[in-house]
Amino acid sequence: MSSGEQFSAPSLKRETCVDLAVIGGGFTGCSAALEAARAGASVALFEAESIGYGGSGRNVGLVNAGLWLPPEVLIAQLGHEGGLRLIKALAKAPDITFELIDREAIDCEAQRKGTLHLAHSPNGLSDLEDRHRQGVALGAPLRLLDATETAQRTGSHAFFGSLHDPRAGTIQPLAYVRGLARAAQSAGAVLHERSPVSKIVFEKETWALVVGDYKVKARHLLVATNAYHLGISDPFRPQFVPVQYCQYATAPLPEPLGTAILPGREGCWDTALVMSSLRRDLAGRLIIGGIGNSDRPGGKLHAAWAARKLAALFPSLSRQEFTHGWSGRIAMTRDHVPKIVAFGPRAMACFGYSGRGIGPGTVFGRGCALALLSENHDSLPVKPLESYDERFTAARALWYEFGASLVHTTSARL
Ligand SMILES: Cc1cc2nc3c(=O)[nH]c(=O)nc-3n(C[C@H](O)[C@H](O)[C@H](O)COP(=O)(O)OP(=O)(O)OC[C@H]3O[C@@H](n4cnc5c(N)ncnc54)[C@H](O)[C@@H]3O)c2cc1C
Repeated sequence: MSSGEQFSAPSLKRETCVDLAVIGGGFTGCSAALEAARAGASVALFEAESIGYGGSGRNVGLVNAGLWLPPEVLIAQLGHEGGLRLIKALAKAPDITFELIDREAIDCEAQRKGTLHLAHSPNGLSDLEDRHRQGVALGAPLRLLDATETAQRTGSHAFFGSLHDPRAGTIQPLAYVRGLARAAQSAGAVLHERSPVSKIVFEKETWALVVGDYKVKARHLLVATNAYHLGISDPFRPQFVPVQYCQYATAPLPEPLGTAILPGREGCWDTALVMSSLRRDLAGRLIIGGIGNSDRPGGKLHAAWAARKLAALFPSLSRQEFTHGWSGRIAMTRDHVPKIVAFGPRAMACFGYSGRGIGPGTVFGRGCALALLSENHDSLPVKPLESYDERFTAARALWYEFGASLVHTTSARL
């Protein structure tokens, strides 16, 4: 599928010295590079592959106004002050993202039509009622929709109701990250693709990076590699459980077939434990996703599940084939809260969005850049940690894949 924005940058071909070095060309790294360059710093960003190669170019495209966790759980985990600080920062994330898209004229199919969190069962509806109560208590403009209105908005009778969030919207994620990269470059940041960082050392009060055959010196350093972290274990390696999520896209739905399906173009995900997502793109494709790795030998079962799911949700699409399929890796933390780790002098890593990285990546990236340059951490969305550890990550990753495979094999209808 084509992305409106194109971007390319040369690999690093000389030694360089900058105020801020950023490792990773996803939402976090590109947002950081853009903000730092706009603040007048000299910035170099190094991407091992191409901009958007990681989760940023592979995701569903839902620009949410929060994390998976309901507010009361976040407050219980982070404390009253810490929880509210993160909730407020992320409530503004769609405003920040869509304003950035407008300001930088990023051609990324931005549709601010809200999202629908869909109740897949009566229990799912109770969960949404509780989320609605919690969100409204904090001033979120959420609306609980009954099964009839949900059916009108989705074109499917499979749901028991839904929670509408008008602050949210959808984008074409690869185009968005390329647009951020282009904007960062225009603001003066120097970006390098196919430039993997293989070594990081703190020497003589400066960060020294090895990038291909060249050495880079930087006063400040941001590691923004999230679930696609590659090759560096010292002085820092992000810890997370890698969870795969796959998606399948139809060809643009012909009319009148597509007329009734998500006519309002909300982005959707459901309340199931092994969740799934739905989005229509600007060309009219329907994109359906679920947990699981479509690239594995056993990945065909996820494609077969997606076809059955499509037919069950929308019987008129039972013959519709998928033209595209892909997978991406999510960095899940045990409490599902993103982490900022200040792992050395004037150095941070930012990771663990647990499947919510468009708005949060944009907000955390710019926040980390400004905190690093000002050497003041007070305005960050979460308090930076000195270190962060996750245990049994490989076993837990297998558990997610096994669970998704089991559900996708056994769910005959949905
Ligand atoms: C399938 C899928 C669906 C998702 N859906 C949504 C959604 O709908 N809404 C939402 O908000 N979030 C979603 N997410 C989460 C979101 O995509 C991620 O949280 C986000 O992309 C993380 O951005 P990032 O910039 O931190 O990392 P990434 O985009 O992963 O970028 C990291 C980059 O670092 C590079 N890199 C790694 N090591 C090195 C090195 N040594 N040297 C140089 N470069 C290096 C990688 O090549 C990679 O490009 C989804 C994620 C996936 C995988």
